[in-house]
Amino acid sequence: MKSRHYSRRTVLTGLGFTVVGGAIGMKFLKPFKPETEELMQLPNAERMPALFVGHGSPMNAIESNEWTAAWQELGKTLPKPKAILALSAHWLTHNGLLVTASERPPMTYDFGGFPPELSRQQYPAPGDPALAKDIESTLQVKIPIQGDTRWGFDHGTWVVLKHMFPKADIPVIQLSMDYRKPPSFHYEVAKLLQPLRNKGVLIFGSGNLVHNLRAMVRTDNTPFDWAQDFDTRMHNYIQDGNHQAVMDFLKLGSLAEMAHPTYDHFLPIFYALGLQSPGEEFRTFCGGFQYKSVSMRSYRIG
Ligand code: ZN
Repeated sequence: MKSRHYSRRTVLTGLGFTVVGGAIGMKFLKPFKPETEELMQLPNAERMPALFVGHGSPMNAIESNEWTAAWQELGKTLPKPKAILALSAHWLTHNGLLVTASERPPMTYDFGGFPPELSRQQYPAPGDPALAKDIESTLQVKIPIQGDTRWGFDHGTWVVLKHMFPKADIPVIQLSMDYRKPPSFHYEVAKLLQPLRNKGVLIFGSGNLVHNLRAMVRTDNTPFDWAQDFDTRMHNYIQDGNHQAVMDFLKLGSLAEMAHPTYDHFLPIFYALGLQSPGEEFRTFCGGFQYKSVSMRSYRIG
């Protein structure tokens, strides 16, 4: 699997994704310990669900459809978070992690070929540098991590939050994902972030359970058979609590290759799995497909 991660980098850049490569130099790592002291010291607050959101096309920011309606509805029913932590398919790093550390994170328009109106959208939520620092302290036991003030909110984050929390009055930070790491790594990072759920922080992974841009057909939302097949298999594994089967998705061979020619949009599901506590369900709050090859299935956990 590792070698495939490396070989897919050219595909990633070809699709116009921003890959921040080698942004962090290696540091000496402290011995790994599972405690999450910094996060545990934060004051307790209402326990937050975790989310996995299929964000689909950037056009969902300015269109009204079944998914944007579902995001809006969910935002009205969720307890108001003290802060939001997003893991977006569109912020990938290598050899370490970055966490947004700005008081006022900038907008990142990480797409091309869309109407100019899309690049004028704003989501003026504040950042939360103190929370970013706590996350940095917690995760540095496992991987090099630094605060970053260049990256702001990419479209995996703001396209969804514009609908879910339109007032933009809740602090938002983003944590990058290390693209070269295996599923188990992302799963373990999520476990380290788990205490944040008891501190009023809403953690959401933003990707898609199936994401093949080469196959998409913009005029048709009826899924390809292979897309539906992969989506159903993953959903069934998730409902069975079989996290390992989801992390072993490459065992599905050509079906996995069709569903995810690159892995960026699948990585956030490993965080959602790692954030699930015993007894909590993955509840689908919207689903279906956009453009035949992008699953919009989204989950609320807890
Ligand atoms: Zn995307």
